Amino acid sequence: MKQEILGLQFDKVTMDEALTIGEAFLDGDHAAVVVTPNAEIGYDASKDPEFCAMLNQADLMLPDGAGVVLAAKLRKTPLKGKVAGIDFARNMLSVFARRGTRLYLLGSKPGVAEQAAEKMKELAPGLVICGTADGYFKDEAPVIEKINEAGAEALFVCLGAPKQEKFMFDHRDELKSVRLMAGLGGSLDGFAGNVKRAPDWMIKTNLEWFYRLCKEPKRIGRMMRLPKYVLKAVLAKN
Ligand code: UDP
Repeated sequence: MKQEILGLQFDKVTMDEALTIGEAFLDGDHAAVVVTPNAEIGYDASKDPEFCAMLNQADLMLPDGAGVVLAAKLRKTPLKGKVAGIDFARNMLSVFARRGTRLYLLGSKPGVAEQAAEKMKELAPGLVICGTADGYFKDEAPVIEKINEAGAEALFVCLGAPKQEKFMFDHRDELKSVRLMAGLGGSLDGFAGNVKRAPDWMIKTNLEWFYRLCKEPKRIGRMMRLPKYVLKAVLAKN
């Protein structure tokens, strides 16, 4: 079931349901796209109909942050809860390991995807990482070719929004063996350990945004989109 918030069609799912859907994509016959908008991206999408329409083409849209969940609740059209992209990705690793799914990591600065791959293999023993590439490329064609040559079945695309979504929707038909791809922002930095996540209690109490702000005060401009998003969602007529 979908729940619309400022034009974006979020899936009303728990983490377990998202994982079941994600696993079903692996048995499909095309490259399914998972997007994970947070409030900041939701705010941008609310002002950019083209970006909004692109995101709505996704096979699964997960609410990545507390801001989206709060906006839905205040509008009295609650979602089932937050399903953060990085948490979905981490849980999918075990699914990939169990099934022998070949995972390709694309994005972040040179070297980060390799570091993330090592950490992921520790988290999900038996995981097959069939290739990695950094996210600072000029031509997309050689990147697609490498992913195809690696026989990737799952692909994490971590280029930041909207670059990663554009990449996925532009190339989904050229990615021959890929069955599941997910746009996951800075998640590879998270897996690599370059960006620490907030302590558990802050994640549970929806204060992760505050932790990130304290760590990187220059994010304040970007983060002001969160209250703007919630306010806009509450005031919106539909
Ligand atoms: N990035 C990339 N290629 C680019 C621009 C960004 O690979 O051309 C990476 C960047 O290194 C970072 C991620 O994309 O790892 C974006 O992270 P951020 O937290 O800014 O994204 P968000 O999740 O907020 O969209």
